[in-house]
Order: sequence, then structure tokens, then C-alpha cells
Amino acid sequence: MTQSPATVRLKPGRDKSLRRRHPWVFSGAVAQVAGSPAPGATVMVLDANGEPLGHGAYSPQSQIVVRMWNFEPAEPIDASWFRTRLEQAVQWRSAYQGVRGACRLVNSESDSLPGVIIDRYADFLVCQFGTAGAEFWRAVIVESLSELSASVLPGITGVYERSDLDIRPKEGLAPRLGVLAGSEPPPLIEIEESGLRFAVDVYGGHKTGFYLDQRVNRALVSQHARGAEVLNCFAYSGGFGLAALQGGATRVVNVDSSAPALELSQHNAGLNSFKEDQIEMVEGNVFQVLRQFQHEGRQFDLIVLDPPKFVESRERLNRATRGYKDINLHAFRLLRPGGQLFTFSCSGLLEPALFQKIVADAALDAGRSGQILAHLEQAPDHPVLLSFPEGNYLKGLHCRVE
Ligand code: SAH
Repeated sequence: MTQSPATVRLKPGRDKSLRRRHPWVFSGAVAQVAGSPAPGATVMVLDANGEPLGHGAYSPQSQIVVRMWNFEPAEPIDASWFRTRLEQAVQWRSAYQGVRGACRLVNSESDSLPGVIIDRYADFLVCQFGTAGAEFWRAVIVESLSELSASVLPGITGVYERSDLDIRPKEGLAPRLGVLAGSEPPPLIEIEESGLRFAVDVYGGHKTGFYLDQRVNRALVSQHARGAEVLNCFAYSGGFGLAALQGGATRVVNVDSSAPALELSQHNAGLNSFKEDQIEMVEGNVFQVLRQFQHEGRQFDLIVLDPPKFVESRERLNRATRGYKDINLHAFRLLRPGGQLFTFSCSGLLEPALFQKIVADAALDAGRSGQILAHLEQAPDHPVLLSFPEGNYLKGLHCRVE
């Protein structure tokens, strides 16, 4: 007999979102916690009448006090449950894992594994455990990954942890970095994406080292870049710029405020044998660089705006809105007639409709009219669970101006 889990009983009427399979229980919804669960331990969530709704991970320090693993009271959460979920997540991505391929294998809530992120870079896996529940099952998850490398995940030589996420302190967890299994990754792992080579710094790079979520959009830019002079704002390791050159762009200007990011994008340009004089690196603040370029009378045929998350909280939404408006307005002013804008927001709190309105207002204020050619989103290895729309954080527009 396995021991029955501790329980979290909800207040009357607070079971509605769980019945719609939304995986979060906020602390204000809880009437009673019984059985003294440890942080991260599995609890059974009950409605106000004591009816079991499913299992979740208890996180006493977080406002999200339980994140659901399942909605099946009869299905226990154990090592074999994790192995099955991980195997399924990996199998669904089989299309994205070529030789030296890179993709997200596990996408947290969207793969019913809240707090667990696993990315593949060629022969290495990089894990992030963001929540108390993910931390609790860390060893089991790593063990399962080793088992899976004998079947659905061949060729993996090492597993590295990059649990230095912002969310960890809110869960009462300190950052954690280091090798979890197998060999240590090299300082730069070389991957291939849509025929381009990139070096990924899993030790100090952003996220787990690369913005995998933009893969499909980079390929789209490649398709539309023939003959274009391109301005790639918030370039990081230069992905959109190299995609544009691959697609026949004549020149690319990469702008980023981070010198190490620009160094990496220089390195990546070299890996793909583009001519040095085709790429200009500008270290600076995009907000200022866009104004400076206008002042200098520079113009472009294709501009990419892929800023970091401007909206950190609902209270900051207004300020962030002004930030998006500003960069889009100045980008519109720099576009030649017939030019294209690929503009993004990775702020989950900014709704796609509001983002579109901001971009439309920016065009109006810049005195430009144009069309939306496509609504863009995160790559399909970053799926969105139907019952967890919050997972849909990346939005973008492909616009053409007159
Ligand atoms: N487009 C990239 C990812 C961009 S991430 C890709 O496809 O890989 C956001 C980048 O913006 C980071 O590299 C960060 O250093 C940079 N950044 C943040 N604020 C900035 C600012 N105000 N001006 C210029 N760069 C900025």
C-alpha cells in the first residue's frame, strides 16, 4: 500500500478553474491543508465537499500554492508517471530533432509538467527546475532522462542544469547550476537550425542558451529577406540576422546592448561563412539607436524587433505598452516604402489584440499605412495546453508598409 498523499481542500466555488483543467491553485482558494506536506510534495486537491480533483505539487511559499500534475484522483504520481509523461513529450518532438538539432523537449505546464523545462542542444540536454514540485522530483526526472536516452532520446552524452530562473526565489529555492548526468558540455555547443550553424552557451547564455521559441519565425524572415537591407534589433546571438543573410539579404545590422551577445553573434556569423562586411554590429540601446539612425537618415527594407519581456507585472503593463509603442513607431519611420516589419512581444501578460493595437497606433503616429501579412507565435515545440492559455506568451506580426 502506498501512503495516501496529504490533502489541500478548496473553499466553496473555488474548484471551477480546476474542473476546466487549469493547473494552478492560488493560495486564496485554499480552505485547509491537511497532512503537513513538505515543499514540493504531492497533495491530493479536494473540492469544498471533499471530492478529489487530482494531484498537484505543494508549494507553501508561492502564491500558486499547488500546481497540478494530473486531474485523475486514481492515478498516482510516481517515477513511472514521470517517465511516461517525459517519454510522450519527447516523442511528440521527434520531427524537430535532427543531427545537431536543437529543440524544447519539455515545456512546463504545456506538457503537464509544471516547472520542468528541458531543452536539447545536439548531444546535450539542459534542464530548468523552476518550482518546488519540479525540484522535489528532480532526481527521478534526471533518472528518467537517462533511461529515455536508451530509447526515444538517443545520442545524449550529458545533462546540465540551468536552474537560475527568476521564479525560483518565489518558490523558496536557491539557484542551482551544474552537471546532472554524463559529461560536461563544452563552452559552446554547436547546433544546426534550418541549415544554419549556431554556437550555444549553455553556461551563461540567456534562457538555457538559445531562443528556441523563434525558430519558425527566423525561417520566415529567411524566406522574405531576398535583396533586403536588414536591421535586427535585440539581436542576441544573431539568429534573425543570419536567417536573413541565408535568405539573400544584402546587409544586416545587429543591435544589442550586450557585448557578449554581439561577440557570440560575430562567432556565429563566422560559423556560417558570411562575409564580414555584410554584418554590422552595433552595441547600444535600441531605443536610442533607432532615433540615431533616423537622425542619420538611414533606411532599411526589413526590420526585426524582438525585445526582452517588457511586462513583468500587471501594474507595469502601461509602462511596457509605451515601450512597445516607441520601438515600433521608430522602426516604422526607418522602413523604406514596401519594407517589412517583424515585430514581437514575449510578454505573456500582453494580449495579442492589445499588441496589434499598439503596433497599429505606432504605424499611424509614424504616418505609415500598411498591412498585416501574418500573425506569428512560438514554435510548435513550445506548445500551448488548451486549458492553459497563459502558455501562449510569444506573439508577433509580419507587416508590410506602403
Ligand atoms: N532575437 C534574439 C533573441 C532576443 S532576446 C534571437 O532570435 O535569438 C533579447 C535581447 O535584447 C538580449 O540579447 C538583450 O541583451 C537585448 N536587450 C535588452 N534590452 C535592450 C535594449 N534596450 N537595447 C538593446 N538590446 C537590448
